[in-house]
Amino acid sequence: MANTITVIPGDGIGPEVTDATLEVLRAAGADLEYDMQLAGLTALQELRNPLPQQTMDSAEENRVLLKGPLTTPSGSGFRSINVELRKAFDLYANVRPVRTIMPGGRYEDIDLVLIRENTEGLYVGVEHYIGMHGDPRAAAESVMIITRFGAERVCRYAFEYAREHGRKKVTLAHKANILKYTQGLFLDVGHEVAKDFPEIEWEDRIIDATAMQLVLDPYRFDVLVMENMFGDILSDLMAGLVGGLGFAPAGNIGSDAAMFEAVHGSAPDIAGQGIANPTGLLMSACLMLDHVGQGETATRIRSAIDEVVQAGESRTADMGGTANTKEFTAALVKALR
Ligand code: NAD
Repeated sequence: MANTITVIPGDGIGPEVTDATLEVLRAAGADLEYDMQLAGLTALQELRNPLPQQTMDSAEENRVLLKGPLTTPSGSGFRSINVELRKAFDLYANVRPVRTIMPGGRYEDIDLVLIRENTEGLYVGVEHYIGMHGDPRAAAESVMIITRFGAERVCRYAFEYAREHGRKKVTLAHKANILKYTQGLFLDVGHEVAKDFPEIEWEDRIIDATAMQLVLDPYRFDVLVMENMFGDILSDLMAGLVGGLGFAPAGNIGSDAAMFEAVHGSAPDIAGQGIANPTGLLMSACLMLDHVGQGETATRIRSAIDEVVQAGESRTADMGGTANTKEFTAALVKALR
């Protein structure tokens, strides 16, 4: 029986890249059914709720989501629905592979995977203002939460991922020199977990030095694991190593649910113009196919992406080409035939 997937097209360029992705999935013969649902700004405008109950019901039932980007208002307004969904389904490991697809960039042959803790750290959203001297917003405070449980399961996931995918090395990036308790706990747990994986090389590095080394010599890394905010920042840096956000997929993995999404946001500056690059969401859909046991279809789609991007005629603007989303998608469909 086909897997039913909850699909949230999302905001901004979301519907454009989702349409393209579903077209390619269909052309590749993916054995999936799609339950289309709303979330984010679009849901707020249409249903007056950024995370409607029917979307949650669908996700509860299907346990696998493919999600376009959602706009999150900065500062005021509703909290990130991405974060809400990750929390609701306890999607604790955010897996972000980056791989060179387009030749001629700053680096060739990049093939790295960042695994970001997805439920704890500073992004738990425990923050408040502190009033002083009659100013209710004289200061603001955010709490970083690291638990042994949370650190252990994400570090273990990183090592198991390395073992399963034939990867050689895991780097834990942290700031335990300054944040001795929170980051120190994450590091200590990493040391303990590493002992169970003696065949995998392991190192820890300070986060800022890791950022510099990723730019100077990315080839020294393989799988990286870190807490939430560090992972958020470094995964964008890593996307930059392979030509930008347009090529960066992500899987949010829990013990009994998973959500797949591109790393990029809703790109309001180009929304509605039909020029977005759907590769990030499409490669996220490939991670989803791997997850539901349709890895062969994922491999065919990845080969089609490589072929079309490397051939060069149908690249979108962010890849330096002139093709629009529909033309790029049509080239992928043709490559799959
Ligand atoms: P963004 O990723 O939306 O855009 C950054 C730049 O990259 C823009 O110039 C944009 O045009 C370009 N870009 C992004 N995706 C592209 C694609 N597929 N093809 C071509 N160009 C692309 O980041 P932002 O502007 O900081 O954020 C916009 C909104 O998206 C914000 O509300 C933010 O909260 C939200 N966001 C959502 C997610 C998510 O849903 N997972 C992730 C990041 C940001």
